[in-house]
Amino acid sequence: MIILKIGGSSLTIKDSKKSEVNTTGLLRIAREIKSSLDNSCKDLIIVHGAGSFGHPPAKRYKIGEKFDTCEYPQKRIGFCETQNSVKKLNMHVCDEFIKEGLPVVAIPASSFMTATNKRITDGKLEMFNKYLNKGFIPIIYGDVVLDNDLEICVISGDQLVQYLALNLNPNKVILATDVDGVYNKNPKTHDDAMFFEKFTSLKDLDTLEGTTNVDVTGGMIGKIKELLYLADLGIESKIINAEVEDNIFKALEDMEVKGTVISRGN
Ligand code: ADP
Repeated sequence: MIILKIGGSSLTIKDSKKSEVNTTGLLRIAREIKSSLDNSCKDLIIVHGAGSFGHPPAKRYKIGEKFDTCEYPQKRIGFCETQNSVKKLNMHVCDEFIKEGLPVVAIPASSFMTATNKRITDGKLEMFNKYLNKGFIPIIYGDVVLDNDLEICVISGDQLVQYLALNLNPNKVILATDVDGVYNKNPKTHDDAMFFEKFTSLKDLDTLEGTTNVDVTGGMIGKIKELLYLADLGIESKIINAEVEDNIFKALEDMEVKGTVISRGN
């Protein structure tokens, strides 16, 4: 089984203040996944980020920060607004994927997962296996969930990857984003950033810069932390660039593709 995460920055117009889908990117990605499935049968779970659909409302309502009881009505609406917005992105993604012949079925985190201090602590995954067994592609995305400590919080697509990988034992974990992989500093803002083919420790980073967009869930650092945790448990993952044509296809097909492998080994 393969877990493929498609970053919100590749699916949406990253710097857009309003929610906008990157329609050409989405169509190309759908076709690459379809070509790979046509090539050989594989069990696939797709996770996608929230991009410009999730981060602006989550940030506006400060979802995930402590608040007074009197603020609850406002926070609740913020939760609903964010949940509805990421659901819309997922609808766009599913529309396009189904049009291309991919049998995707959405399993939203907000409908069955809960967190404790922003970490998923409950969420039974048997439906993933049931759908996989029937030949579907389960699809889950960055979302808002109830939190035992903070009432509500945001769960990133990257944390979902970690939780699914931990509990479902995939053969392969691929994260497709908008850069080639991990560098010692943000390659979007530093021309001299050095690329890592293999990444084993946060100490290798020069600066702990998150992301260039309005991400509320940690950007590249958030991603790496989730993946290093998996690496500690012996689950290797690879970050690749979704914006380079055929990269997703190649990664799904086990072909050579530029990217950063996150592992603890040498
Ligand atoms: P996604 O939406 O695909 O999950 P993010 O926007 O959250 O991706 O994170 C990817 C971004 O992280 C890149 O666009 C890049 O600008 C930024 N970034 C910050 N530091 C680094 C780094 N050291 N290496 C690679 N990318 C970095």
